[in-house]
Amino acid sequence: MIDAHNIIKEYQTGTELLRVLDDVTITVMENEFTAILGPSGSGKSTLMNVLGCLDRPTSGTYFLDGVDVLQANEKQLAHMRNQKIGFVFQKFNLLPRLTAIQNVMLPLLYRGIDEADAFERAKEKLVLLGLENRLKHRPNELSGGQQQRVAIARAIVGDPPLLLADEPTGNLDSKSSLDAIKIFQDLHHQGNTILVITHDRDVAEKLQKVVFIRDGRLYEN
Ligand code: ADP
Ligand code: ADP
Repeated sequence: MIDAHNIIKEYQTGTELLRVLDDVTITVMENEFTAILGPSGSGKSTLMNVLGCLDRPTSGTYFLDGVDVLQANEKQLAHMRNQKIGFVFQKFNLLPRLTAIQNVMLPLLYRGIDEADAFERAKEKLVLLGLENRLKHRPNELSGGQQQRVAIARAIVGDPPLLLADEPTGNLDSKSSLDAIKIFQDLHHQGNTILVITHDRDVAEKLQKVVFIRDGRLYEN
């Protein structure tokens, strides 16, 4: 699913060249559940942005689901993000004025799927995540754990081949964190390919495969 080799990302800061990703090679197979674990400042967000087709590396190669990402233009990159990746963020990124189900419907509406169909598909995912009694609630009427479940429903509503989660438990209490991890595990068992980026050891140790990042370099153990 993910086939990234020798990824280097450098930033020019004043006169200094800062190497944030240093020869990163990572592969994620279909139906794998992988965590990338590393401390703050180790390059996790930068790697997430590259793997999520949000940012380009300075050099390296990256194939996502067989497509050469680094040869794609901006329009094609946006298409990759929409079609191939479901994103889950630390801050949920739900639209505050929309209800839970409207938030989940949005990616489908953007794709031109009609409203009735989008409603049914969004409802199916919210029910799957135990939110059948929260469809019409707005984000500020939901707990953090519930908001993250809405965000996960939104990420999977288009059945993307890859689920990419950046610190998904960063704003959750420990019980909600465990619930969120359980949801990812269930999704994994249903055939989803998942990559979670986290600084939380308790989260990482529950997952199938853990890769470590430190100072922009990856380590298998
Ligand atoms: P993490 O997500 O693990 O906290 P980041 O990927 O956000 O790490 O950052 C890794 C390093 O790269 C940090 O030292 C950060 O300051 C630096 N960095 C990230 N983005 C930029 C940027 N756009 N310009 C300059 N330095 C950056
Ligand atoms: P996170 O909490 O996800 O690690 P950060 O606070 O490290 O996020 O970074 C937020 C955004 O700012 C990212 O897009 C990152 O690329 C950018 N950034 C981080 N460090 C720097 C920096 N030193 N200079 C410029 N941009 C930076």
